[in-house]
Amino acid sequence: VEGYAKILRQEYEKAIDDNGMQFLRSILDACSHMKNLIEDLLQLSRVGRLADVKKEVNIPWVVTEVVEELRFIIQERKARITIAENIPNVVSVETYIKVVFRNLLSNAIKFCDKPVPEIEVGVLGGEHPVFFVKDNGIGIESEYFDKIFMIFQRLHKRYEGTGAGLTITKKIVEAHGGRIWVESTPGVGSTFYFTIPL
Ligand code: ADP
Repeated sequence: VEGYAKILRQEYEKAIDDNGMQFLRSILDACSHMKNLIEDLLQLSRVGRLADVKKEVNIPWVVTEVVEELRFIIQERKARITIAENIPNVVSVETYIKVVFRNLLSNAIKFCDKPVPEIEVGVLGGEHPVFFVKDNGIGIESEYFDKIFMIFQRLHKRYEGTGAGLTITKKIVEAHGGRIWVESTPGVGSTFYFTIPL
């Protein structure tokens, strides 16, 4: 479908009026949404095989890599991201920890209506570290604090997404024996907390 829609857009551009072009754009958007959805579902089905090679993972390093991957959207949104220096290592599979931070950071940038998204990655000390990603975005009503971790549950249709990111993130955290939750004030921002038992 995507292939034929692209041919129509490229080779029949002059024969199609503005309305028709708008329909074509909708078809292409839906195709790309479907691709993302399949990718996400595949990723979700793969999590859980944590028997993979676990090793010490340096979180600030992983977050720096994710920031590099997201650099275009970060530049476009003029987002400011600070990463605490005192974050301890966890024992995990690096790719999974990367997925966790990629999902949390891209949501923090996406669900933000302020001119400059301010995002903080840090850790609360104590016997068991609690990692967090804090944003100054649109926030979430407390009645949805659990619902957002369920597959395909999305509160804001006007922002792009598949509704699988937080489900994948939760599955990864729980596969480590950890826990994830959110605290948020609508209009002020959200903080996602999670634990990865050492
Ligand atoms: P997606 O980002 O693809 O919509 P997620 O599973 O990552 O799916 O998130 C589910 C829903 O939770 C989002 O659609 C959004 O409504 C809400 N959400 C997630 N992260 C944030 C955030 N940082 N600020 C406000 N709302 C959020």
